[in-house]
Amino acid sequence: MLSIQRNVALDTLNTMGFSATAEYFTRITEVAQLPLLCEYCKEHELELLLLGGGSNLVLGDSVFGMVAQIDLKGWETTRLDDDRSQLRIAAGENWHAAVDRMLEEGLFGLENLALIPGTVGAAPVQNIGAYGVELKDRLLEVEVYDRTQACFSSLSCSDCHFSYRDSVFKSIEAERYIITAVTFVLQHQFKPVLAYSGLHELTDKADLTARDVFDQVCSIRSSKLPDPKVLGNAGSFFKNPIVSAEQLQQLKQHFPDLVAYPDQGQFKLAAGWMIDRCGWKGKREGQMGVYERQALVLYNAGGGTRAQLEVLMTKIQRSVQQRFGVWLEPEPRFYPAVHTACHLT
Ligand SMILES: Cc1cc2nc3c(=O)[nH]c(=O)nc-3n(C[C@H](O)[C@H](O)[C@H](O)COP(=O)(O)OP(=O)(O)OC[C@H]3O[C@@H](n4cnc5c(N)ncnc54)[C@H](O)[C@@H]3O)c2cc1C
Repeated sequence: MLSIQRNVALDTLNTMGFSATAEYFTRITEVAQLPLLCEYCKEHELELLLLGGGSNLVLGDSVFGMVAQIDLKGWETTRLDDDRSQLRIAAGENWHAAVDRMLEEGLFGLENLALIPGTVGAAPVQNIGAYGVELKDRLLEVEVYDRTQACFSSLSCSDCHFSYRDSVFKSIEAERYIITAVTFVLQHQFKPVLAYSGLHELTDKADLTARDVFDQVCSIRSSKLPDPKVLGNAGSFFKNPIVSAEQLQQLKQHFPDLVAYPDQGQFKLAAGWMIDRCGWKGKREGQMGVYERQALVLYNAGGGTRAQLEVLMTKIQRSVQQRFGVWLEPEPRFYPAVHTACHLT
């Protein structure tokens, strides 16, 4: 059974804190509701927006069509051998609470991804990553309802085409799959990943535990990122642009202190550093602003609108393009979609 409501306010269901109204809204608590949902949308010619925690979305004032909040719950562990267990988590579980529970149960490997807002089901969409670990590093498979084939199925890690903040769910076949559960393979023996600055200082700690890494990640994140409950935001607003070694070398001739990280044979430029160098850090335009402790974060001081955000975003994109010749792509999904501003030549 589907329970469908009309004209539902989404203000508290998106971390940007924008005022938005869904034309139709439903909450999915059982997988059996998904075929019904898709049939309903088809029959009534409604676009479908899947909603988790709303922490990677920029909503317009009116969200036409159906918004379906995925609220599926469940947790299942299977021991594979002495070293590893398989963990299947339903899509509607809270991501941070899930990482916390993994540690309680002695399952290690995702502690670096503590305190990322949102749901387990949305985590594969942009292959969440932080502090040297990406979701894909520990993922076995993703269970889905396939809207094209009208059937349940599962995708292996390679089927998901994961890359930096991207996957089949975000770009290649964006509207095709509804994620119902995610399965990880986790270790019983804790193997720390400490290469990232901020965690490196834990290297010499005696009897280092996964909980120490979890706590350190939470502490660094809390000191650098605003809490969406206090200040509306969607985390890092722009992706770090990826350039070739040759492009980096050219840029370094003009900007010797440009911050860049090696990334699978290419280089990721620190977008926050470039925005900061363009003088945006701490700047405020109306109700929208650039966070004073992290220039990658754009925030809503209260009462801000998507239109104001788009103006600020475009100004930042243009100034970074003019100074560094690089175009910054936003990380969150705009719904309804936005026509991105033209690149300056
Ligand atoms: C303060 C802050 C810090 C953040 N830090 C990080 C970080 O360090 N690393 C990082 O990678 N991200 C980060 N993010 C971004 C965000 O938390 C993640 O992208 C998260 O996975 C989004 O989860 P959500 O449930 O809120 O998704 P939503 O915002 O609800 O949805 C995001 C996208 O996924 C789709 N979607 C949602 N659920 C499903 C489903 N079940 N099946 C298919 N599609 C679905 C939606 O339609 C939408 O396109 C941060 C955000 C904030 C606010």
